[in-house]
Amino acid sequence: MSTNSFLPYGRQSIDADDLAAVAQALQADYLTTGPGVGRFEQAFAAAVGSRYAVASNSGTAALHLACIALGLQQGDVVIVPTLTFLATANAARFCGADVIFADVDPDSGRLTPAALEAALARAGSAKVKAVLPVHLNGHCADMATIRAMTEAKGIKIIEDACHALGTVHQSGNNSTAKVGACALSEMACFSLHPVKTMTTGEGGVTTTNDPKQYKTMMLYRSHGMVREPSEFKHRDLGFAPDGQANPWYYEMQALGWNYRITDFACALGESQLRKLPRFVERRRQLTALYDAQLAALAPRLKVVAKQAGDDAALHLYAVLIDFAAIGKSRAQVVAELKAKGVGTQVHYLPVHQQPYYRDLYGKLDLPGADSYYERQLSIPLYPDMTDHDVTRVVDALRGVLG
Ligand SMILES: *Cc1c(COP(=O)(O)O)cnc(C)c1O
Repeated sequence: MSTNSFLPYGRQSIDADDLAAVAQALQADYLTTGPGVGRFEQAFAAAVGSRYAVASNSGTAALHLACIALGLQQGDVVIVPTLTFLATANAARFCGADVIFADVDPDSGRLTPAALEAALARAGSAKVKAVLPVHLNGHCADMATIRAMTEAKGIKIIEDACHALGTVHQSGNNSTAKVGACALSEMACFSLHPVKTMTTGEGGVTTTNDPKQYKTMMLYRSHGMVREPSEFKHRDLGFAPDGQANPWYYEMQALGWNYRITDFACALGESQLRKLPRFVERRRQLTALYDAQLAALAPRLKVVAKQAGDDAALHLYAVLIDFAAIGKSRAQVVAELKAKGVGTQVHYLPVHQQPYYRDLYGKLDLPGADSYYERQLSIPLYPDMTDHDVTRVVDALRGVLG
């Protein structure tokens, strides 16, 4: 990449093999709901170590399908850390469930056991059905502790793992697990949007080890429609008098959605998945370079706290800047970095502050999330960056921070 090119905060890596894979899929018989989807799902499950993977057309759909598979409905309550993308909370709302927003650690943006405890206390007598920890930036929430706190209460866990494809986390005494293996959760959800660790354009995946959850998600991904004769409820309509299944027949057994992903998107997914080890390795290298070079900018700039014992593959490289101390607003810093060719983004405005949620649940006091949000900036991180690009970003930051 040329020394003067603009560095966005994230972007996809598309190579000739990806183009060839998609071109081939576009010339096949099925553009959607063909054999490419199942192939991609199997490869994805194998890559993260889960029994099942359900591919859908967005990370949002993946989260919604997971909420459906837990049977979330009106009257249920879920706990969501407020420092996340909108979709984590919205997925529960799509099912009619209510969201209790948990605070997060101000220096990592992640749900802590103490914040979870406080959220459980706020739930009072309401039945909390699930918690959705978010592996913000690619660092895992403290899964072992969160599991220990919730399991005896019958509270299920859906991981929002959209940032954490490739991360390995502590899963108990001296054992580790890949994010997506669901070692300490019911399900894990991934996004395959272009800025994420790998892409299918738009796309998502939910992983699980539970055959019932898998089946439910497959049903709801496509209109609640059943084509398998052994599962027909209307035997008179589904079968001819001679006992043969009617070849045209399908039935709708639940109110589902069209969350299907195309075969050509899955062809891109399969091709990207083959390169996932390289993407992850490159993200780790770039992260180590940033860690080493940014240390000199403390205390005006701090890097996000890691989760002890994890081997993270970061989706975002987040820094926390004391804007008051440097005497510049965040907007000014963003503009000055942009002028130096460095793209940034803020992840995220705490979701409880969004007008929709403010109208629904009123004003909440979650100071850890506010503190993280006020200082956060995501700087460029994607596999095609060079080592020199990292130095360029750090030099730009040094210049702007003064
Ligand atoms: C990207 C993302 C999503 C939603 O994924 P889409 O594919 O854009 O629908 C959900 N949660 C988090 C934390 C994300 O980063």
